[in-house]
Amino acid sequence: MSDCIFCKIINDELPSTKVYEDENILAFHDISPQTPVHIIIIPKVHISAASELNEQNSEIVAKIFAVIPKIAKDLGLEHYRIVNNCGPEAGQTVFHLHFHLLGGRVLNGKMA
Ligand code: AMP
Ligand code: ZN
Repeated sequence: MSDCIFCKIINDELPSTKVYEDENILAFHDISPQTPVHIIIIPKVHISAASELNEQNSEIVAKIFAVIPKIAKDLGLEHYRIVNNCGPEAGQTVFHLHFHLLGGRVLNGKMA
């Protein structure tokens, strides 16, 4: 999608600090980290939100969750939180499916 900032990052039209990349997935440091380690993990295919997942396109989510332990281990995270915000009222601000990987300090138990 031409006006999607995460698609621009995938296409190297915007800079990012990459921590993982393969043919389907990209992971990079969040520009405004909320924890000492805050990584954004995205599919290279544009899916606007988790609400757009279905039986045809959801295989990428399994692929993402298969690489999260590797990314976490590489960054020295033993304990971490994975977050997806789906829709503006749930805090989604970038409309390209992404998972936040948060860690590097003790996280409280609050979800919202
Ligand atoms: P969300 O609010 O769940 O849609 O998360 C979007 C996240 O993307 C926020 O944590 C932003 O700080 C982050 N973000 C926005 N623009 C960039 C960028 N250019 N590079 C890295 N992270 C970004
Ligand atoms: Zn996109």
